[in-house]
Amino acid sequence: MISSLNADLHCHSVISDGTLTPEALAERAKAHGVELWALTDHDEVGGQQRAAAAASAQGMQYLSGVEISVTFIDQTVHIVGLGFDPDNQALQQGLRRTRGGRGQRALEMSADLEKVGIHGAYEGALKFVGNHELISRTHFARFLVESGVCRETNEVFRKYLTEGKPGYVEHRWASLKDAVRWIVEAGGVAVIAHPARYKFTATEEFALFSEFKGHGGQAVEVVTGSHTPAEYISYATMATEFGLAASRGSDFHSPLESHTDLGTLPPLPGHLTPVWELLVSRIQRLQ
Ligand code: AMP
Ligand code: MN
Ligand code: MN
Ligand code: MN
Repeated sequence: MISSLNADLHCHSVISDGTLTPEALAERAKAHGVELWALTDHDEVGGQQRAAAAASAQGMQYLSGVEISVTFIDQTVHIVGLGFDPDNQALQQGLRRTRGGRGQRALEMSADLEKVGIHGAYEGALKFVGNHELISRTHFARFLVESGVCRETNEVFRKYLTEGKPGYVEHRWASLKDAVRWIVEAGGVAVIAHPARYKFTATEEFALFSEFKGHGGQAVEVVTGSHTPAEYISYATMATEFGLAASRGSDFHSPLESHTDLGTLPPLPGHLTPVWELLVSRIQRLQ
């Protein structure tokens, strides 16, 4: 398999905080030339069967996917899992536990927004939620746009819902060790998602990469919708330094909100090992 394969191994459906169904995403991925696809909803594998079936109907190869929320040195880090068994019980239980605090957190976010005069945010956000176990900041962001508080979701995250801003509620997610273990023990590969997004010092980032690797993590996103071209290069270097394979994914959420569409990113730098080479036996091929 070649590294220029059009693989898109990171996106979201209505089962987490995307706005398209797994079927509509598969159709869109195919229309943009994707050959190998993974749906990676946050903390949830409930869309995997539909996504795999839709990929097959569209003539694309498929890898199972998930994006697990982790707390590492007091920051939220996302770990993508690829090619695992979606029926694995320990993984499902871990994800259920990780999702568990979202309802209470959403109520607290709403109470905090109330203090700055934004009323009914919980009920407002719920209108955008496709899966009641998965209420997220994105759903609040859509409500704040709909109600005219902000013009677009990016503006919401600049002014609200992030550390130090109204509507931000500190939350503890899964540990790095647990998230990597759930993925690896379910037969998959763990991937550090969009590393440039985190606000770690160089020492903390080194700790993230080395602990991740120590727990059995094997890959890092290099080419993602969250990185600039300069960041593709710096994380290609990190991949080489840490002996990690490289992944590629748009992180597509919505036609109206996402700047990077499915399948439109540049290929991975040629000298890196593409993560799908570690997953050859896990790819669901066409019949
Ligand atoms: P949560 O898991 O509830 O904390 O929500 C995290 C989600 O919010 C991410 O997966 C993104 O979809 C979205 N998000 C976070 N920061 C931003 C941002 N600056 N702009 C747009 N969306 C964001
Ligand atoms: Mn998201
Ligand atoms: Mn993420
Ligand atoms: Mn994502």
